[in-house]
Amino acid sequence: MTAIGEEVGRLLDVLGVDRTIWTDGSMPALTPLTGEQVGMVRVADAADADAGLNQAVAAFRAWRAVPAPRRGELVRLFGEELRAAKDDLAALVTIEAGKIPSEGAGEVQEMIDICDFAVGLSRQLYGLTIATERPGHRMMEVWHPLGVVGVISAFNFPVAVWAWNAALALVCGNSVVWKPSEKTPLTALAVQAIFARAAARFGDAPQGLSQLLIGGREVGEALVDDPRVALVSATGSTRMGRAVAPRLAQRFARAILELGGNNGVIVAPSADLDLALRGVAFGAMGTAGQRCTTTRRLFLHDRIYDEFVARLKAAYASVAVGNPLAGEVLVGPLIDRAAFEAMQEALAAARAAGGIVHGGERVGEGASFYVRPALIEMPGQVGPVLEETFAPILYVMRYDDLDAAIAQHNAVAAGLSSAIFTTDLREAERFLAASDCGIANVNLGTSGAEIGGAFGGEKETGGGRESGSDAWRQYMRRATNTMNYSDALPLAQGVSFDL
Ligand code: NAD
Repeated sequence: MTAIGEEVGRLLDVLGVDRTIWTDGSMPALTPLTGEQVGMVRVADAADADAGLNQAVAAFRAWRAVPAPRRGELVRLFGEELRAAKDDLAALVTIEAGKIPSEGAGEVQEMIDICDFAVGLSRQLYGLTIATERPGHRMMEVWHPLGVVGVISAFNFPVAVWAWNAALALVCGNSVVWKPSEKTPLTALAVQAIFARAAARFGDAPQGLSQLLIGGREVGEALVDDPRVALVSATGSTRMGRAVAPRLAQRFARAILELGGNNGVIVAPSADLDLALRGVAFGAMGTAGQRCTTTRRLFLHDRIYDEFVARLKAAYASVAVGNPLAGEVLVGPLIDRAAFEAMQEALAAARAAGGIVHGGERVGEGASFYVRPALIEMPGQVGPVLEETFAPILYVMRYDDLDAAIAQHNAVAAGLSSAIFTTDLREAERFLAASDCGIANVNLGTSGAEIGGAFGGEKETGGGRESGSDAWRQYMRRATNTMNYSDALPLAQGVSFDL
């Protein structure tokens, strides 16, 4: 066994994952750091999915009767277990998803943060009382647990996205069934083991309250099509969302869709360019361009274009690319060969459309795929600029009129995250009012959202919202209750129906 394989074994042992589950299966688990196989994971078949969903339904029926603040106690314990496991789980995220260590740790921190948020929420699942038009009546709106929540997640946030959903779903009184990315099964197994420790400390959590179904698209489809699953929260490409959304609509199931992005930044002439440089560099190169919120399009005002491009080029030339376990780097690997090939295709298409490409070369060879981030000066927003390529490519374009730049910014299919760098208050407000994205920022980049806000985007990003604010409501059903405490039966709208 190689050093990295041994490290995976050590981490999974420490995290409490039974060896047979990840060594005796049929699905290879790979690390993008070297491309080597580090496990063979058991895949759920149709019988496993059926049994799991039956158990999830039974768990929901028991869990919904537990008072919400007590449900919050389980999530509090889970947060404690995550704190204890943070370093090991973060190291596994680095090995399985290729994130640099600080980003791996950041991802686990996000899980801890959403647990804290959900614990508070468990005492704040507030409804309303509503004025009624009838005397002697009272009207109220009450939130009830929903049912089994299915979570389908993407490789690039292998654990945090599940936690955003699960922490809220659990305090809201639901059970959770998780289909992680087939590219990141080991971190999912580790999270389940950590959750099992919290459940054991809690004492009387129902069996099967949180479950894992490992496999590819067909396992995801089983969740999507099964009437026992009340809500499916699906994170991944727009292509996946296009397949999943009609199937959920067909059976009137609830959907939270968190799909692709094509995020833009505008740098205005008044911008603090030091700040803008850091914001754009992290947004475009961080996580090797593999965030849904990665900055992919940059609109630079004519007056600062030359200076800013020169500074960006220097930043791109100096950034360290390589194996995050082997040294101090800021850009790790692409997830696999397909990602590399998609990037090369986009670079070729950009050249064909008149783009001037800086960077983008492969670093090293073999079964892993490291690339230098690419900066491409484009004559306009054409060809590959209109698409999300899940790799570190930043398309740079000029503008001279802010309204035209905002119109260009909005003229793509996705609508996730956006930003402007400016010190002009009027420009900032104009941008915030006009950006058609779910996230719009001033003087910070497009990536790195906090859990306190609702996260998600419009248009082909799917319209879903997760995490903070009032996203919890999607994991509950709302009932309007009217109580009559009078001796009469007045009908609404003054209707008379006297027998
Ligand atoms: P992907 O679409 O290939 O896979 C995502 C998940 O969906 C996987 O678990 C996969 O098995 C499953 N899946 C695929 N097709 C399915 C189908 N027809 N039915 C049911 N399940 C199906 O995405 P990926 O390559 O893992 O992740 C990258 C993509 O995810 C990018 O487009 C990125 O922007 C997006 N993403 C979005 C968000 C967000 O919050 N908006 C967050 C992270 C990633």
